[in-house]
Amino acid sequence: MLINADFHVHSCFSMASSKDMLIRNMAPKSKLKGLSLLGTGDAFHPGWLDIIEETTDYSGDGIYTYGDMDFVLTTEVEGKNKIHHLIIIPNLEIARELSAKLPSKNKNADGRPKTQLGGAEILELVRDYDCLIGPAHAFTPWTGMYKSFDSIYDCYEAKPDFVELGLSADTFMADTVRELKDFPFLTNSDAHSPWPHRLGREFNQIELEDISFSSIKKAIKNRDIMANYGLIPNLGKYHMTACTKCYKLVDPMIARENRMKCSCGGTVKKGVDFRISEIADYSEPKHPDFRPKYVHLMPLAELISTVYDKGVTTKTVQGKWQGLIDIFQTEINVLIDVSIDEISKIDVNVANAVEAFRNNTIDVVPGGGGKYGEISFEKKLEKPKAAKITTLDSF
Ligand SMILES: [Zn+2]
Ligand SMILES: [Zn+2]
Repeated sequence: MLINADFHVHSCFSMASSKDMLIRNMAPKSKLKGLSLLGTGDAFHPGWLDIIEETTDYSGDGIYTYGDMDFVLTTEVEGKNKIHHLIIIPNLEIARELSAKLPSKNKNADGRPKTQLGGAEILELVRDYDCLIGPAHAFTPWTGMYKSFDSIYDCYEAKPDFVELGLSADTFMADTVRELKDFPFLTNSDAHSPWPHRLGREFNQIELEDISFSSIKKAIKNRDIMANYGLIPNLGKYHMTACTKCYKLVDPMIARENRMKCSCGGTVKKGVDFRISEIADYSEPKHPDFRPKYVHLMPLAELISTVYDKGVTTKTVQGKWQGLIDIFQTEINVLIDVSIDEISKIDVNVANAVEAFRNNTIDVVPGGGGKYGEISFEKKLEKPKAAKITTLDSF
């Protein structure tokens, strides 16, 4: 069976996460996004594990069900050098045991525990328990594995199971790095809130024998990812090299000459785009045979927000989003599959925007320095785009 899965989210127990990130909200919201399997996130947090146990039904083999949504246990761990690792876990008993074993001072406080273990030690620990592991948002400048290592094998001293690309990268960028030809890529949302422009904003289409941890493990090991759906990378908040204080986009070479200091006094952070170019072996991507298609998305709610010039979480935008989902079932249908004529019958303005998205004629003010990129329909900007960056809400 072909299913859409998002393995990386955070619960209400993670820092800077919405208090609404509870199973009872995550389940219906992810259904509306067209997902049928969701990672629980934060599965080393004892309080979150209790909530999972209390609110879901155990269907066996690692699947916890609420309503018509299936969950698999996943967590992100911050290891040595502040590198983030994503772990997929077989069941609650193992999650509890691993949580107890992980040397970490804040595991009762933060859903994303910090430990001083390096990638190799974390890999060894969780592999003993049959878990899957890979670097989370592998290229990002604060917490991505490639910020500290030029090779994934230097971090893990073994071959991890997957590489999560992160919002600021895609298959075309990652497949310029030779060593990644042996890894399946995962595209996950890293959502901290259940809003539709966050949860499921990236997901994986996977061929599974059935919904079970064993099948998920087999599919990832066999690289049976059938498609990756992800943001246009320059919408990601670390795509370009930029100042973390004033968010001005800065040429990476000039940034280096100025010792990563911005004229405003802020610190400039290297973008994913530039980091990948540093470690790339090829100027053009070379995809291995098994590499599935990568479908670029942008959150439909943000598209509607731009069209109507209203905040993405306002009633107007959420109402229009819900109206389209009620008719066309999923966001993917609206963005990719349904004819523009059909959408026009409901909302001609949104139809025009979706058409522009499909034709690749939407302007994107690229993200960087921690600010998400922004979409715009102004075709002829007088000023340079970098000067026009404004913020979307931060998570
Ligand atoms: Zn992370
Ligand atoms: Zn600055």
